[in-house]
Amino acid sequence: MKRPYNFSAGPATMPVEVLEQAAAEMLDWHGCGMGVMEMSHRGQEFIAIYEQAEADLRALLAVPAHFRILFMQGGGLAQNAIVPLNLSRAGVVDFVVTGSWSQKSEREAHKYASEVNIVASSADSGFTTVPPPASWALSRGASYVHLCSNETIHGVEFQELPDLRQLGSEAPLVIDFSSHVASRSVDWSRVGLAFAGAQKNLGPAGLTIVVVREDLLGHALPVCPSAFDLRNVAEHQSMFNTPPTWGIYVAGLVFQWILRQREGALSGVAALEQRNIAKAALLYDTIDKSQLYYNKVAPHCRSRMNVPFFLRDESRNEAFLAGARAHGLLQLKGHKSVGGMRASLYNAMPLEGVQALVDYMQEFERTQA
Ligand code: PMP
Repeated sequence: MKRPYNFSAGPATMPVEVLEQAAAEMLDWHGCGMGVMEMSHRGQEFIAIYEQAEADLRALLAVPAHFRILFMQGGGLAQNAIVPLNLSRAGVVDFVVTGSWSQKSEREAHKYASEVNIVASSADSGFTTVPPPASWALSRGASYVHLCSNETIHGVEFQELPDLRQLGSEAPLVIDFSSHVASRSVDWSRVGLAFAGAQKNLGPAGLTIVVVREDLLGHALPVCPSAFDLRNVAEHQSMFNTPPTWGIYVAGLVFQWILRQREGALSGVAALEQRNIAKAALLYDTIDKSQLYYNKVAPHCRSRMNVPFFLRDESRNEAFLAGARAHGLLQLKGHKSVGGMRASLYNAMPLEGVQALVDYMQEFERTQA
């Protein structure tokens, strides 16, 4: 069966192999007589699934030993509270605002920090750029600096994480990498904490991964809920309360899928990164060469994962989307806050899917616009 190509920003398309394996194991996981949804999180079967998933995620993201990997719930938005509850020490926190998601994070932090500084913002450009790190007005003594390394709605991606020490700040860097996790490598020497909802590149909604440097644990505010105290979660191997077992299992299948990927001499995330570069180049080139479509983001900070684009004749939007659906190209409508179109090119989107999209876009421009 040929499935349509699904460009949803999240929950998003999954590798077919993973869906097939989850389906095959639905009623009986490895001959134990139970499906994964039905087993105790404390039983040996699930513990084996959990430990494999954690080890695989550590391997594929090359997470150093002095970082803990936590499997949590609540998504990216809960992390907007969990991070300041754990890291702010009720002091000063810095935010780099480059789109809707970092803006939401910044607004939530006011509840927990005594002072929230926007040290740089690209709001004036309509969130089409990343302000150069050298221009950031970093605070002295901030508890942490937060940024969203890929803005899912505006399609803005950091191509490199800032080196805060070089910029004169001792604060740990917090990154929301929800929408490009595992699409490229991470320089952990520059990161204190990273969080991501699973529902784009890793698996089903309901699972959130947190990768946190060990020395940042143990500073939660007294009001922090026990289930959200990162030290408590780490001490209980993410089993202080029942973890999202199904999400961890399916994400574990995705981790194994990622580890199996090959592209020439490259494997895992490096292989996917290579593919992601080619996929994004194909779509951006098509947009830039067209008379009908355009993208507003400065070329050096365009996201490889989320490509918002617009039709110069907005009255053709509905026709474009209807035609796309008829061509088996799903969920291309842009986020309601920005309008237009958005194609999300997560790891599970093959190059053939992007080729099908650009073929359709060119045909539409030739015949319908
Ligand atoms: N951060 C980013 C970068 C996102 O893309 C999203 C969801 N689209 C969120 C945070 C919020 O995630 P959730 O809905 O899982 O809370």
